[in-house]
Amino acid sequence: MAAAQSDLRGDLAAIVGDAHVLTGPAIERTYDTDAYGVEHFPPQAVVLPADTAEVAAVVRYCNAHGLPFTPRGAGTGLSGGAMPALGGVVVSTKRLTKVLEIDLPGRRLKAQTGIANARLSAAVAADGFEFAPDPSSQSVSTLGGNIAENSGGPHTLKYGVTAQHILAVTLVDASGHVREVARGPGYDLLSLVVGAEGTLGIVTEAWVKLTPLRPRVETALFSFASVRSACDTVAAIVAAGVLPAALEMMDERILVAVRSAFGLDYPDGTLAMLLVECDGEPAAVGDEMARVVEIAKNNGTLQIQTAQDEAERARLWHVRKKGIGAMGRYAPTIVTHDGVIPPSKLPDMLDFVYAVAAEAGVGVANIFHAGDGNLHPCFYFDEREPGVVDKVVAAGEKIIHRCLELGGSVSGEHGIGVEKSGLLAQMFDDDSMRLQLDFRRIFHENPLCNPCKVVPDNKSCVEHKVRWRGVAT
Ligand SMILES: Cc1cc2nc3c(=O)[nH]c(=O)nc-3n(C[C@H](O)[C@H](O)[C@H](O)COP(=O)(O)OP(=O)(O)OC[C@H]3O[C@@H](n4cnc5c(N)ncnc54)[C@H](O)[C@@H]3O)c2cc1C
Repeated sequence: MAAAQSDLRGDLAAIVGDAHVLTGPAIERTYDTDAYGVEHFPPQAVVLPADTAEVAAVVRYCNAHGLPFTPRGAGTGLSGGAMPALGGVVVSTKRLTKVLEIDLPGRRLKAQTGIANARLSAAVAADGFEFAPDPSSQSVSTLGGNIAENSGGPHTLKYGVTAQHILAVTLVDASGHVREVARGPGYDLLSLVVGAEGTLGIVTEAWVKLTPLRPRVETALFSFASVRSACDTVAAIVAAGVLPAALEMMDERILVAVRSAFGLDYPDGTLAMLLVECDGEPAAVGDEMARVVEIAKNNGTLQIQTAQDEAERARLWHVRKKGIGAMGRYAPTIVTHDGVIPPSKLPDMLDFVYAVAAEAGVGVANIFHAGDGNLHPCFYFDEREPGVVDKVVAAGEKIIHRCLELGGSVSGEHGIGVEKSGLLAQMFDDDSMRLQLDFRRIFHENPLCNPCKVVPDNKSCVEHKVRWRGVAT
């Protein structure tokens, strides 16, 4: 039975302490969404446990009282994963921010999962190491969120996604049992937990792999007079077998926003830019960047800005990492989409994205991991305009259909969440979808753990969609 609100607050306070239970209208509004931003549902309470034992006690309490619960890190997720779709309790990892152990000879580090991604690298930078996954949200997004979404980032092209850098986790499973999950012989449960979007339980601690810093890094920003010539450059770099550490693209709408927010020089007539980083042994890096420059020149680059020192490198990266934030000046609401296509299809795909946005009557800007073919069309609009959210959702679906037609994927790194829980079935057949749901049920008979995410697991999820959009999707 669900507890009355006053009992709920008191019961949760008995587990985590009164100061660490948040309730009331302001809390309901703050925690009713994430960076997906257009789908909302308020929690009954938010709890901030201090350690694994408190997380487990909260999860057991929710199970005993039939309360849905939703794990939450920094709330930067872009597919609605931390939005409490059926209300209940949000379990925040805000207080789980400690580095627990650093093992340099073993090239690994253990931390609680509420720690911000960037703090992991900062903890070992002086020793010549880093945590390689670097989502552009890394100054705030948490290790737990990165694990749950199997996040990528600009350096995924060369160093892989989060899954390749997680060695073991402590999981409070959906029933409240604490389990140590590591890779080893037998079924690879760690691969199931990483990328599960918080539907199998709450990860409270993790051992992560440390990657040695490279002896040489070269970073350059290339300007182009058209999106097509920038896309052609990306396709040619990939086709030539050159593997930069990062190969990122920004179109004109992003550049204008970044220029007015932070200042950015580029020649008149620039409609797209590529940020390219090469790293490794000095001689190899020089050769690789020379090859990239040659390809960019063959495709008509207007200007090349090369970082001469660490400060300039940081300045060039600032342009990329703050690009989405800078778009806040265009409109109050931004929905950042996520789909994957083969990089060779980029030029036509970008034309398609612009056409879809124009047809829907919403603005679009593109800033994305071009080397991976991982698109991020960012729609900007005013959510309060009647009907506009439906137009944005429909435009996103058209883009995802085209990604699938081109042999790509419904998501590269932002996850399925609620945003794409209806689209996953377009990528997999009925049997595969049933298998996904069966996996979830092995972990949890009773669908209370982050319900309605990834695979709709509960008839209330349909009701949630109807309440939100007025239609069942
Ligand atoms: C400006 C901007 C740039 C971004 N750039 C990138 C990028 O380059 N690459 C990329 O991949 N993503 C990017 N993202 C998306 C987002 O930052 C990532 O998905 C990130 O990993 C989410 O972390 P978070 O701590 O904010 O998680 P939240 O948003 O709080 O949660 C995300 C999901 O993880 C679950 N979760 C959170 N913590 C835990 C836990 N401890 N245990 C189990 N489940 C948990 C939640 O239930 C939810 O389903 C960007 C977002 C923004 C706003």
